[in-house]
Amino acid sequence: MRLNRRQAISSAAALSASASIATQSLLAAETPDFKFKYVLASCMYGYNNVWEIVPEVARTGAAAIDLWPKIHGSQREQVDEIGVETFSNFIKRWQVELGCITQYKLGPFALEDEMRLARKLGCKLIVTGARGPRGLKGGELKSAVTEFIEKMKPHVALAEETGVTIAIENHDSNLMESVDSIKWFHELSQSNNLKIAFAPYHLPQDSMLLAQLIRDTGSSIAMFYAWQHGKGALDSLSSEDQHLQMPGRGELDFKPIVEALKEISYDGWTEIFMHPGKRGTPIQESIQGVTYEINRSRDYLESCLKATEKTSPKQLASGEGKPNMSDTNQEKQAIVRGDFNQLNPREAYVILNQGTEPPGPGGYTMTKDPGTYICRQCNAALYQSDDKFESHCGWPSFDDEIENAVTRRPDPDGLRVEIICSNCDGHLGHVFQGEGFTQKNTRHCVNSISMRFIKKGDDIPPMIVKIEK
Ligand SMILES: [Zn+2]
Repeated sequence: MRLNRRQAISSAAALSASASIATQSLLAAETPDFKFKYVLASCMYGYNNVWEIVPEVARTGAAAIDLWPKIHGSQREQVDEIGVETFSNFIKRWQVELGCITQYKLGPFALEDEMRLARKLGCKLIVTGARGPRGLKGGELKSAVTEFIEKMKPHVALAEETGVTIAIENHDSNLMESVDSIKWFHELSQSNNLKIAFAPYHLPQDSMLLAQLIRDTGSSIAMFYAWQHGKGALDSLSSEDQHLQMPGRGELDFKPIVEALKEISYDGWTEIFMHPGKRGTPIQESIQGVTYEINRSRDYLESCLKATEKTSPKQLASGEGKPNMSDTNQEKQAIVRGDFNQLNPREAYVILNQGTEPPGPGGYTMTKDPGTYICRQCNAALYQSDDKFESHCGWPSFDDEIENAVTRRPDPDGLRVEIICSNCDGHLGHVFQGEGFTQKNTRHCVNSISMRFIKKGDDIPPMIVKIEK
């Protein structure tokens, strides 16, 4: 038997898996709550503009975007057109991470430039396909996987240098097509920068088998596609049949898979995914439709995760890991999806209709306490008290904004520059340059009513990103 060693490894894994089930309730109290780290595949929106897709990241519960090139998406090419720096600033403003760049076209041996670009954009993962013949088994398969990993060595060396991980997707079209190929790859790959992008779509649609494969090879998985085969991704299928690839729509039971991911404390990305029959088109007609479809699958995955909690009551007792706001207060504001704060008529007059409240010492004009000024409508952090100064103009004045929080646009009066909240477009006031009040020579003249002041040390509420209805 050629597979003896692997079988031994896999039965050892099975043993430790059952042991871990037995001790699960004991461990649960100490184990941090498992959460999916979602990344949004840009190609789910076809060739739509990357400007329109980035705001959808938070709306799909994701923290990051995966840029896909043609033919599936065109957003990777769009970044070249708009410029790396502009793109980088844009995703920062939306608090979106570049989680992954997908690059099948370049293949595993031509990723040098892409790795350097990834490093520039703070992206730590590139997904591509393997090379090599299909249909191999046993020793032949092992030799071919060994050879492939050997060929990857110089590329992996650059990956290590640039801090990028190359993840190879298992795929029907090459060497990495089978359960065994994934097991060999896991066993033979020596580098943390060479991993697997795990695609159930290309594997037997058997949830217990897939769950076991995750337990056996999980530490090598850097990307999990929440994606099933359904009836395939053919153009000849009705759109309803194409959507059977989405979790919760097709027949594959994701519960055992989710349970396995939780059990190994999987900490890579999860990408809810499908291919539309006609590549390069959005999976639903409108941007909102695509987001809705993804959220439908996400709700299903979260319900699978919830179901695993029933087996470990202590975990429930220990409390659901609520985001700890005091951690995010300083660095990064949390984001929630939902409706904006309700505005009273006076607030709506200023914030929605570009009104101006009367000048005077009221509101926050004289406030000097340390803290943060957030947007009244969406809670986005706008200004720090350190940048506030006394201008005697009758409105709160700041000489700087929190990075990317405030957008400038020409005022309809043709003279002034209007400032609006970058997240919700709510009217804030105007910005003036060259008045010489402070060294920065800038005065944001802001309506008190457009803001809310949060004292230093108090929790800043999460920024609300609106769900389009
Ligand atoms: Zn706002």
